[in-house]
Amino acid sequence: MLPIILGTKQIPIDTENLLLNCPSCNSHQFSDILVSSQYFHLYYLPVIPIDKDAYSICNKCGYQRSFEFSRKFVQENSIQAKKFRHPAFTYSGILIIIVMIIFIIIAN
Ligand SMILES: [Zn+2]
Repeated sequence: MLPIILGTKQIPIDTENLLLNCPSCNSHQFSDILVSSQYFHLYYLPVIPIDKDAYSICNKCGYQRSFEFSRKFVQENSIQAKKFRHPAFTYSGILIIIVMIIFIIIAN
């Protein structure tokens, strides 16, 4: 029997330099943030994106942390959401399923 290989993978989307509140130096400092897309895969084929995570490094003290790249965070920091879209290929599996359904409907 063929083993089913599934799970999640992460890929970096883009970076940004933001003025954030640093919990380590207790002040507003510029931080470099790296936003990653997390997607579900089946046999290493990306099926659908599920989440976005952010990883930040304070430019003053070097404090590092990761947090959820939420809609609230995007709004609070007036970030251009377009820049941090999930890469198109992370929707591959869903696209294949839709094409198969359309094909089945047409074939009948
Ligand atoms: Zn800091």
